Amino acid sequence: MKIIHFSDLYGEYLTMKQEIDEAIAEVIRSTHFVKSGKVLKFESELGKYLTTNVIACGNGTDALQIAFMALDLQPGDEVITTPFTFVSTVETAALIGLKPVFADADPDSFNIDVSQIEKRITPRTKAIIPVHLFGQCANMEAILALAKKHGLFVIEDACQALGTDYHFSDGRKQKAGTIGDIGCNSFFPSKNLGAFGDGGAIFTGDDELSVKIRSIANHGMKAKYEYERIGVNSRLDSIQAAILGVKLLYLDQKIVKLQKSAAFYDEMLTGIGDLRLPARMSYSTHTLHQYTIQTEKRDELQEFLKSKGIPSMVYYPTPLHLQKAYLYLGYREGEFPVSEKLSQTVLSLPLHPELEEDQIEYIVSIIMQFYRQY
Ligand SMILES: *Cc1c(COP(=O)(O)O)cnc(C)c1O
Repeated sequence: MKIIHFSDLYGEYLTMKQEIDEAIAEVIRSTHFVKSGKVLKFESELGKYLTTNVIACGNGTDALQIAFMALDLQPGDEVITTPFTFVSTVETAALIGLKPVFADADPDSFNIDVSQIEKRITPRTKAIIPVHLFGQCANMEAILALAKKHGLFVIEDACQALGTDYHFSDGRKQKAGTIGDIGCNSFFPSKNLGAFGDGGAIFTGDDELSVKIRSIANHGMKAKYEYERIGVNSRLDSIQAAILGVKLLYLDQKIVKLQKSAAFYDEMLTGIGDLRLPARMSYSTHTLHQYTIQTEKRDELQEFLKSKGIPSMVYYPTPLHLQKAYLYLGYREGEFPVSEKLSQTVLSLPLHPELEEDQIEYIVSIIMQFYRQY
């Protein structure tokens, strides 16, 4: 059996090496390293895949900040999100003076618990920011209904869910990140569609808003050296766009592989000890950015796996309301019991397209061995 990696970006590259190498060489030959046709071409291809407007930018964190700026959110405005997420969601809001307001996570989906949102809405609330954690959509239909009722924007943090389908109760399907007013995506190397460095994108179905977003990401520029608003400098470089253009062709294939491996994990891990397997919500497909189990014996299990050569990760060990940087928001321990519990019980197992069946069998056998001690 081969060494088990938590993720295998090099192995993934080898499956499309020739195309990627050629795409990179082409950019170098052209010397159009920024703002090139390669970037526009990739934006248009991803736009077709998602059926929306795509504006590439420097990373997922910038995408969130640019989204807030594009919706003219002002210092003191409140945005509601989950404390069980990567820091960017909250950091960018705080950075431009918005007040992050938390609503607890749901223990099955790991996503924002929609029953916790409405009581957090105040006259200053401007937006809800669902995060589609680990590759599965938040309950968007309920979130859209709340947003409509209270006149709020919906900004999707879709950084972990590119390619995920949301199923509306009337049978319509839409890709994660294209459902709210704006969707934000990251091409960080380990994401569903990962670059060989940093990258990000902003999605919107609103053509006018997409022009504004493009301007903000480019110094607030209207025409050359003419600035109509304060902006930022956030761009995807041409080499990353070229790589992403190749990898996009294989994204759906990769997702199918991940789903198959996850189904194999599900089957093999059912009924073992106190393990809670990742729930599949009826309203969303799961693109398995992470395969995350829950157990009260998380730390011991992680240590045991490590001793047998199996890497695993904890996403996330501390919910944001308990992080030093965000204590100023005034939340206390015990205020978001589900997020706090999750941070102590979640464990993400190795999952990537190159993971083989015998490796999953080995991982499962070690987990079974762990539980035989109890
Ligand atoms: C990765 C990620 C981001 C930030 O993306 P970067 O490209 O690293 O800036 C934001 N939100 C979530 C939920 C993420 O997983």
